[in-house]
Amino acid sequence: MARIGVFVCHCGENIARTVNCAKVAEEAAKMPGVVYALDYKYMCSDPGQEIILKAIKEHRLTSVVVAACSPHMHEKTFRGTASRGGLNPYMCEQANIREHCSWVHESIPEGTDKAIDIVRTLVAKVMRDQPLDVIKVPVTKRCMVIGGGIAGIQAALDVAAAGYEVVLVERQASIGGHMSQLSETFPTLDCSQCILTPRMVEVAQHPKIKLYTFSEVEAVSGYVGNFKVKIRRKARYVKEEVCIRCGLCTQKCPAKKIPNEFNCGLDNRTAIHVPFPQAVPNIPRIDRENCTWFQKGKCGVCKKICPVNAVDYEMEDKIVEEDIGAIVVATGYELYDIAGNDPNGLYSGYGEYGKGKYADVIDGLQFERLASASGPTGGEIRRPSDGKEPKTIAFLACIGSRDNQKGISFCSNICCMYLAKHAMLYEHKVHGGKGYIFYMDIRSGGKSYDEFVRRAVEEDHVCYVRGRVSKVYKRGDKIVLRGTDTLLGRPIELEADMVVLATAVTPSPGVEKLAQMLGIPYDKYKFLSEAHPKLRPVETVTAGIYLAGCCQGPKDIPLTVAQASGAASKVLALLSRSELEREPTVAKVDETTCVACWCCYEVCPYNAIEKKEIRDRKGNLIKMVANVNRGLCQGCGLCAATCRSGSIDLAGFNDEQLMAEIEALAQVR
Ligand SMILES: Cc1cc2nc3c(=O)[nH]c(=O)nc-3n(C[C@H](O)[C@H](O)[C@H](O)COP(=O)(O)OP(=O)(O)OC[C@H]3O[C@@H](n4cnc5c(N)ncnc54)[C@H](O)[C@@H]3O)c2cc1C
Repeated sequence: MARIGVFVCHCGENIARTVNCAKVAEEAAKMPGVVYALDYKYMCSDPGQEIILKAIKEHRLTSVVVAACSPHMHEKTFRGTASRGGLNPYMCEQANIREHCSWVHESIPEGTDKAIDIVRTLVAKVMRDQPLDVIKVPVTKRCMVIGGGIAGIQAALDVAAAGYEVVLVERQASIGGHMSQLSETFPTLDCSQCILTPRMVEVAQHPKIKLYTFSEVEAVSGYVGNFKVKIRRKARYVKEEVCIRCGLCTQKCPAKKIPNEFNCGLDNRTAIHVPFPQAVPNIPRIDRENCTWFQKGKCGVCKKICPVNAVDYEMEDKIVEEDIGAIVVATGYELYDIAGNDPNGLYSGYGEYGKGKYADVIDGLQFERLASASGPTGGEIRRPSDGKEPKTIAFLACIGSRDNQKGISFCSNICCMYLAKHAMLYEHKVHGGKGYIFYMDIRSGGKSYDEFVRRAVEEDHVCYVRGRVSKVYKRGDKIVLRGTDTLLGRPIELEADMVVLATAVTPSPGVEKLAQMLGIPYDKYKFLSEAHPKLRPVETVTAGIYLAGCCQGPKDIPLTVAQASGAASKVLALLSRSELEREPTVAKVDETTCVACWCCYEVCPYNAIEKKEIRDRKGNLIKMVANVNRGLCQGCGLCAATCRSGSIDLAGFNDEQLMAEIEALAQVR
């Protein structure tokens, strides 16, 4: 015989403003099975939980309904209370009378009536609840980090420092990401390579880190604590373990006119090349598409000249498999290429700024390469078109960001800061040069950031012009910018030698496919979504998969590193456990009635339905049935709702419980 207790929470004013909580408790007390009902200001507080504990003991309750906020918020809290009171935690239900009721109603009678209805449905359900036991699954104590920028490097080093194995997968031939392309970094102007390179080397030398560069994740299956990952190791055509890094092959390669990606196309590289001098690993690879041997079957210079026979034209991609317990996604960003095609298919346009048309209109990363001592000009600021020193540079903010007319509302977060940095570096390097920054407003909210921008204005005399440039065109060897100075309220025209566009930060190409493979959501710009913007900023909704860095949204280096360490700490919390507890509210198939129609298999979004063979003792196949992998099932109930023969039940949400809820709701008050 059920003895149910109902506890109605005021949630301060959140619920009590539009719900008469005392009346809800009074009505609840009259419901079938309810032996005790009470309202209280904060049920989740210590005294609130004490009330529940005391009532369980004094009234010998068998089950509990807490009418409060969303179960997302406090189901765990109240199930814990029930458990401490000696009940099975799954004999406790939470009726959501806040998000579903008080927050959407304005009058007390309306809100109160609805709250009573909601409580009645949960009372009907809890009466049919069965005790459930949590599912225990083992944990593979290894982590995979996808992306070897500063986010991935930090996360990998943190996890490895705690003694766990890390598999770091980077799709480029070297780790380092965009930070390796930067010259100096705001707000301290310290050399980017000097702070990054030691960490890259540490990754390569760490005994707990297995580094796969020039590799991509091909398939992921399994679930938290037990992922199985297939990684494609693309052929470099140079044997890593044999190469002695003498550099002869890159010096002698005759295919020399290939735009150098690392320097953003500002100079050329050879077909066999090391991405950049500090690359980790520092091993060349052959770019097949531009290699004469692969394209024409001729040449072979690199193979002939290699003193250790490391070049191997027959090398093929390899697929390796790894067992992984937790995954950190750190796939970073790309700058929106307004001259070419946006790989994410988000935008088109901004041709008015002349990028791709005029060699001296460049983007922020190209400017970084020009300013970098290891860049194509050895750190001297020179015009790409003729190598002359530009006497005037215009820097344009918000190109492709914060443009609601084109549906791009997000702020790229770092541009105000790096433009101030660029203008400062320019004024330091080109004496007598004049830098103009065209901006909408300045966002410099980080620690010491506003001081940095002020320094650009006050000490380095960078000229800030508030306004948008609407047109960029050529006049002789100058670039003319036309627009409006919105502070002075008048049109403006400026002749510049070079233009730097702060183009939008967009997610890495291909992240959508990866997200679908991992079962994690992304927003309309394809930035990966965190589980909760405030309380779970590094977790995804898929257990065991975490986010770090710019894949989740544009960020500077300090925020990226902080988030990466946050993700690593979540990984460590998971890997430090010998077993994981999973919700027992998963689907179960009745094998005697299953007709193997596979509708459940088709609809399951988590690939949790397996096709199981039933065999007799001699091994003859009797029939096929659906089987639920309890590790993968997330309890969404789609299979149960779809099953044609009614053979699938969801623990905690069986047909009887759902029908009882509907009937309770349909009762006339
Ligand atoms: C012009 C400019 C100047 C900047 N200056 C500064 C500055 O002065 N100070 C500052 O704090 N910040 C600065 N930043 C921001 C800084 O670049 C970022 O904060 C930082 O690089 C983010 O690191 P990340 O690891 O998240 O991403 P990334 O650096 O983009 O690294 C991501 C890595 O993941 C890899 N990857 C992508 N997809 C896959 C995949 N599917 N599989 C495997 N690997 C994959 C990529 O190849 C890359 O190596 C600047 C940015 C720009 C554009």
